[in-house]
Amino acid sequence: MTVPFVDLKAQYLTIRREIDDAIAKVISETAFISGKYAKIFEDEFAAYLGVKHCVSCANGTDSIEILLQAMGIGRGDEVLVPANTWISTAEAVTTVGATPVFVDNHPETYTIDIGKIEEKITPRTKAIIPVHLYGLPAEMDEIMAIARKHNLKVLEDCAQAHGATYKGRKAGTMGDCASFSFYPGKNLGAYGDAGGMVTNDDDIAQKARMIANHGQVAKNVHKIEGRNSRLDGIQAAVLSVKLKRLDEWTEARRRNAALYDEWLSDLDIQLPIEPTHSRHVYHLYVVQVPNRDEVIAKLKADGIETGIHYPTALPFTEAYRRFKHQPSDFPVAHRQMSRLLSLPMYAELTEEMIERVCESLKQAVQAIAATQTDSV
Ligand SMILES: *Cc1c(COP(=O)(O)O)cnc(C)c1O
Repeated sequence: MTVPFVDLKAQYLTIRREIDDAIAKVISETAFISGKYAKIFEDEFAAYLGVKHCVSCANGTDSIEILLQAMGIGRGDEVLVPANTWISTAEAVTTVGATPVFVDNHPETYTIDIGKIEEKITPRTKAIIPVHLYGLPAEMDEIMAIARKHNLKVLEDCAQAHGATYKGRKAGTMGDCASFSFYPGKNLGAYGDAGGMVTNDDDIAQKARMIANHGQVAKNVHKIEGRNSRLDGIQAAVLSVKLKRLDEWTEARRRNAALYDEWLSDLDIQLPIEPTHSRHVYHLYVVQVPNRDEVIAKLKADGIETGIHYPTALPFTEAYRRFKHQPSDFPVAHRQMSRLLSLPMYAELTEEMIERVCESLKQAVQAIAATQTDSV
């Protein structure tokens, strides 16, 4: 038995008829860009989250950029972002002309460390982008309190957290606005690139919609220069079919996570934690192991694929060399870079597959522990 890291085909097979029909309909109606199906999905997704506006766009990276622009953030501004996240979070800040300022992450929740935010605030700081990393919401009450105190905007990066909740509130409904990615491998994924921006703020929504569609307020009426970042009809139709199953798939992810939790509980490794006030949606199931690369090799030999999120924390990637960061600037992110390991996680994983992963991981960790005791 092999256990792939993700299996988008397995999910497709469960909804094949509905997806194929939805795609055929878009084509027969030639509703290719924005239009009817994008509008339907926007309304459905806004209703799912309980927010006033959802503005669709081409991908999750664009959604961060456009929202920053819509909030007036640009040249000369600083935006706080977590040290460990996918590069889009920081990249979008640079694209709008502002400077990303990294904040170390919490050692156990992996989200931005709320105790380390204020020391990074300067007179130029304009916003914070908390990332609900791996599917667990960042500590939003504390983040919002800091933001209010310093008059900062908050953009929630929800690319990994569709349907996650914090104190009963859905991720994406707590900040000034929030960005979503519907990249195929995300918890709610299209069959190509897709993104969404959500907010309760009429002004941000209106500006975001204008920027994403060439600054138009009506056909050929360009109030500003914008850009082309639109959702296509096929992706919108796919997302509408899949949104109906999101909660069911999330429950399956949570059941799978609970099995991992149980079957790995006797190993001396760091497992994911879920604070009682949060509902984790396990976009990724991330553990920390010593001798990570040896563990990966053993799992691979047993037919199990794994991932690393992320092998190099952003302050230490070549792209951000200009900031000249040292490991001691972000000790948690730096230490975890060589220890993080993402196990297979998706709704269609079977108990048998999870058992197999746990068994293999146990053998790997125990073998390494044994060689370490031998050598002392
Ligand atoms: C995937 C992702 C994005 C970007 O989404 P794309 O649709 O791939 O552009 C942004 N932030 C985080 C945390 C992500 O995981």
